[in-house]
Amino acid sequence: MTLALESPLSAVRGVGAAGERTLRAEGLATVGDLLWRLPHRYEDRSNPLRIGSLTTPDVTVTVSGRLVQLVERGARNRRMRIVEAVIDDGTGSLPVVWFNQPYLAKALPAGARVWLHGAVKVARSGWGLQLVAPEWEVEDEDGEPIHLGRIVPMYGKLGNWGGRRVRTLVARALEDLGEVEDPLAALLPAELALPPLGDALRWAHFPRPPASDAALGGLFEDLARRRTPAHRRLAFEELLALAVVLERERGRRRRQRAPACSITDGIRESARRVLPFHLTEAQRRVLAEIVADLQREFPMARLLQGDVGSGKTIVAALAALVALAAGHQVALLAPTELLAQQHHATLTRLLAPTPYRPELLIGSLPAAEKRRVRQGLEDGSGHLVVGTHALLEDAVVFGRLGLAIIDEQHRFGVAQRQAMLAKGEAPHLLVMTATPIPRSLALSLYGDLDVSVIDEMPPGRIPVRTVLRDDAARGRLAEFLRKEVAAGGQAYWVFPLIEESEKVSARAVATHVRAVRQALAGVRVEAVHGRTPAGERESVMAAFAAGEVGVLCATTVIEVGVDVPNASVMVIENAERFGLAQLHQLRGRVGRGRRRSFCVLLTGPECSDEARRRLEAVVATGDGFRIAEEDFRQRGPGELTGLRQWGRPEFLVASLWAHRRELEAARALAAAAGRRGELAALAKRVRCPGGVGPDIQAG
Ligand code: ADP
Ligand code: MG
Repeated sequence: MTLALESPLSAVRGVGAAGERTLRAEGLATVGDLLWRLPHRYEDRSNPLRIGSLTTPDVTVTVSGRLVQLVERGARNRRMRIVEAVIDDGTGSLPVVWFNQPYLAKALPAGARVWLHGAVKVARSGWGLQLVAPEWEVEDEDGEPIHLGRIVPMYGKLGNWGGRRVRTLVARALEDLGEVEDPLAALLPAELALPPLGDALRWAHFPRPPASDAALGGLFEDLARRRTPAHRRLAFEELLALAVVLERERGRRRRQRAPACSITDGIRESARRVLPFHLTEAQRRVLAEIVADLQREFPMARLLQGDVGSGKTIVAALAALVALAAGHQVALLAPTELLAQQHHATLTRLLAPTPYRPELLIGSLPAAEKRRVRQGLEDGSGHLVVGTHALLEDAVVFGRLGLAIIDEQHRFGVAQRQAMLAKGEAPHLLVMTATPIPRSLALSLYGDLDVSVIDEMPPGRIPVRTVLRDDAARGRLAEFLRKEVAAGGQAYWVFPLIEESEKVSARAVATHVRAVRQALAGVRVEAVHGRTPAGERESVMAAFAAGEVGVLCATTVIEVGVDVPNASVMVIENAERFGLAQLHQLRGRVGRGRRRSFCVLLTGPECSDEARRRLEAVVATGDGFRIAEEDFRQRGPGELTGLRQWGRPEFLVASLWAHRRELEAARALAAAAGRRGELAALAKRVRCPGGVGPDIQAG
């Protein structure tokens, strides 16, 4: 029977009703579903070793020869059954042993030609070598071997099906698979040199060895990184699915009517009054882009990217001012209460010369206060609100939300962005992120957004000096901090908490603060963490901002957005437990003023050499984009995309880093189709079961 990608798995030889149920439980219904699940790695078992050349134990080999003297017997340990045989390939012979697989005595006919792959050990007798519990395959005169004698795909379990059984299933499905039509064939960008779908699926499961042995290493590297033409073809389709969905969202937005804001001399005048400093060239440029969007009739959807400390807040404040002056309400969403409180304070200060008074809406406020703020937003008397997730609750209703700003967007998912937008009719949207992410990731996560980048720091910044130290440096560190505080500086002292549960966090902070206080006698040391009550947190932060606190002990609650320009030292305990991008974020809390600043990465006693090397990347550069790319690369192919974290489904094959060229090409294809009004036709050609593939026909 000839199979198609749409054929049910029950049509594959050897899949009965029970097998079909097993596969269905794993989310596999069709042959296509199965074939898109690629092996997680490959082993080279293509070249059999000549047995005669085998001299040393403790190697893994593939051999091919005739199996003789097969016997099954009980072991001295009565409960174990042993199968023994000898394999002979003409150059020599080697004893073979299997444990507890008595059925092998029947499966392996005596005298059969077989492939074996396994570990060579010194024989139990101490005399000569022995192949122990190898994988086996009987040579088939007409067919190609599946498990041995080739580059072999390795699969994870599917339900109770082991890897070998999955491999057999895939091989049978491919054997009976007919001609596969590739609806994308004519659209595959020539410069990527991608094979058609059928070839890609076959090859990605059973790669052909290259013509020369020299090329083998390169092939395995490409296989491991999913960079072979076959892998890239499959990845391209998933990325195209994403690109089409994003392009569609973008088209939908452009058909909405937004509250256009007009710019008057009055607005220009009040903008000048609120500005505490001259904007940098980059800030001016992105502000112009944002203001141009706000004047349009369809809603803005813009991502403002800029490294930590590049000055995104003032840009957001000015955008807010434009919307407020046009009579709209503005909401600013922040990921932590600490940051919301800080933004609220900053905006209150900045907007003092204007008629607008920011409100604060966070979970830890008294119920009556929350009610008051919500009432104001509903009846329109509240103009501008800064808040956390509390803003997204159903009870929050806006009278006329015109602009939604999301700070530290990478902390929110797509769903939360939608929830924020749903608070207005078709409000303008500005999302900001201080986590500079590689362009490929930005395109996928925010591909439906226009992008503005602040690529310049405010003047007078001195680069932060970063050092890597271990426990032995504590004494000197305390000394250094005392001097720094005496000279008017301030420091953060951050330590990792895996789980910010109430009790653990409180206790860990207390222990930590005690130790720091002891080390820094005479310096005022305070602490904030995720569970510090809002009022207390506010007063501690205010005291720190006012310079009354020398050292602020904190969990990563201060990771995002916290802005105290006088702070000059960032100490990070157990730095090896943080991601590189996170370390860069934390470091971004210092070096914000004119004071010479330091970042001390303290490693714990369990820090491996490898972890230390990883940290060197943060020491070596202050460029957030380079660090983000390094972070991405280091996570490797195992961590495919991290997309789910942002509320998008994971790909089966594509990796945003490894396939960034394919992503760019897919984006270009989708954008061109969008311009010609052919997006729906393009969507019909995409059939991958991974990523947003399954959703693509829906909308
Ligand atoms: P981020 O982009 O990380 O959100 P912030 O908006 O918090 O950065 O700005 C970092 C610091 O730089 C703040 O103290 C802010 O007042 C200051 N700042 C921003 N823009 C300028 C500028 N053009 N000139 C001087 N200081 C600036
Ligand atoms: Mg910020």
